[in-house]
Amino acid sequence: MLPEQTVTNDQLQSHADALLSVRSLKKVYRTDAGSVEAVRDLTFDLRPGELACLVGPSGSGKTTLLKCIAGLMAPTSGEVLLDGKRVDGPPKKMAVVFQEYGRSLFPWMRVAENVELPLRNRGMSKAERGPLVAAALEAVGLSHVPRSYPWQLSGGMQQRVAIARAIAYQPEVLLMDEPFAAVDAQTRADLEDLIRKIWRDFGVTILFVTHDIDESVYLGQRVIILSSSPTVVQEDILIDLPERRDQLETRALPRFTELRHHVYEQIQLAKQGHRKTTVDG
Ligand code: ADP
Ligand code: MG
Repeated sequence: MLPEQTVTNDQLQSHADALLSVRSLKKVYRTDAGSVEAVRDLTFDLRPGELACLVGPSGSGKTTLLKCIAGLMAPTSGEVLLDGKRVDGPPKKMAVVFQEYGRSLFPWMRVAENVELPLRNRGMSKAERGPLVAAALEAVGLSHVPRSYPWQLSGGMQQRVAIARAIAYQPEVLLMDEPFAAVDAQTRADLEDLIRKIWRDFGVTILFVTHDIDESVYLGQRVIILSSSPTVVQEDILIDLPERRDQLETRALPRFTELRHHVYEQIQLAKQGHRKTTVDG
C-alpha cells in the first residue's frame, strides 16, 4: 500500500535542515514567437546526503529547472537556496553532469586533463590536484586510461569521465540531467550502479533527472514527479526499497513493480491535468 509512503509538499517544506531548497520557482522564456512557461511553480527541498530522482515527461521543464538550480540561468520568479544562501550564479559546491557528454568533454585534452580542468580553474596547486584526479578516476573505474583522449573511449566511458570530473571537484550537490539517455541498456545499468556507489562512498547529495520511470525508482531514495507543462510537483514519494540495490533482484521485487506502477500512473494523470489524492498500491 502506498498512502503512508506519500510525503506531502507541506511536510517537505517543514524540513529546516534542507541543503538545497527550491522555492516557488517559475521560468518563462521570452521568444520572438511569444512567451513559453517552462516551469510554473516548483517547491521542494533536498536534505544533505539525499539521492533524489526527478522524473517528468519530455518538455516538462527538467533541464530548465536544473539550469536554474545550477545558477546558469535566472528564474523568472522564486528562488533556489543552497545552505540557506540564494543561488545567483554557479555555486562552488555544485557540479552538473549533462546528457551530452560528447559536448561536455574537450577532445584535445586527455582524460586526466579533462577531469583536472575545474580544479585548475579553481586555482588549486598541481600537488593538490593530482590525488583528487586519481581518486576520481579510480572511483569511476578509469584508472587505466588517464592518458587517452575522450574520442578513443566508448560512450559509457566518456560519461564516466564526465562523472569523474564532477566528483573530483568534491561538490556537496551533484546535479545530473538525463546523463544515461544516450548509452545502451547494459552500460546504463552499470552507470546506475556506479551512481549509487559514488553516492555512498562520497556522501554527496544527488538530484538525478530522468524521464525514465524505472530508472528513477531503481536509483532514488525518493522520486519527485513533475507534471507536464505547465510544471508543478505532481507528487513526491519515498522509495522504500532495500538500500542495497541489484539490477536483477531489486527490479524483480513486487514492491518495485508497485512503485513503478504508481509513478507511471501519476505521470499519466499529470498529462491529463489531474492530481490523484488517494492511492491503492
Ligand atoms: P525537459 O528537460 O523536461 O525536456 P526543458 O526544460 O528542456 O524540458 O523545456 C521545457 C519547455 O521550455 C519546453 O516547452 C521547451 O520547448 C521550452 N524551452 C526550453 N528552453 C527554451 C529556450 N531557451 N527558449 C524558449 N523555450 C525553451
Ligand atoms: Mg531536458
